Amino acid sequence: MVCYFREEENGLECIEGMNRRMQDFKKPSRLRVFLDKHTLIHIWVVRLLRLLSSRSTCPFCDIVQGKAPGRVLYQDDLVTAFWDAHPYTSIHILIVSNRHIESTNELQPGDLSLIGHFFTIAGRLAEKENLVDDGYQLMINTGFDAGQTVFHLHMHLRDMESL
Ligand code: 5GP
Ligand code: ZN
Repeated sequence: MVCYFREEENGLECIEGMNRRMQDFKKPSRLRVFLDKHTLIHIWVVRLLRLLSSRSTCPFCDIVQGKAPGRVLYQDDLVTAFWDAHPYTSIHILIVSNRHIESTNELQPGDLSLIGHFFTIAGRLAEKENLVDDGYQLMINTGFDAGQTVFHLHMHLRDMESL
C-alpha cells in the first residue's frame, strides 16, 4: 500500500489511499511517498525476475552468439545455419535469424529482406549439400500446435532421406 505523508507543524500526517487529490497537498508542505515492507519486497522480486529473464535462455540465441556448442555451417549479419541436434533426415539443417524473433507471427514489413535472405541461404546450402537434383524440403513451424518447440524463428532444410 502506498502511504502519502504530509509534513505538518506537529509532525507527519499520513493520508491513506490513492484517491486523495493532489491539490489537497498545499505548498509549502513537502510530499513524501513511503512504501510499506510488502510493496518493497514485491518491487525487488519483480526486478530480480526481470534481470533473470533478460539473460539468454534461448538455445538458438546461444548458438548464434557462440555461447553454446552448435555445429555452425554458415553465418552472416542476418542468419546463422547449423546442424539440427536431433535430425529427422540424413541432412537436417536449421537456418535461424540472428535476432531473437519468436516466430513468423512477430515478423514486420521491415523484415522483408530477412525473409528473402532465409530462402536465398537455404538455396545456397542445398546446393552445397548437393540436394538440388534430388529435391529438399524447407519448413517453418509456427506455434506450439504446429510443432514449434524452439521459439526463435528458424527454417528447417531437410533432404528426402529418412533416418
Ligand atoms: P521446431 O520443432 O521448433 O520447428 O524445431 C526445433 C528443432 O531444433 C528441432 O528439430 C530440434 O531437434 C532442434 N533443436 C532443439 N534444440 C537444439 C539445440 O540446442 N541445438 C541444435 N543444433 N538443435 C536443436
Ligand atoms: Zn533466441
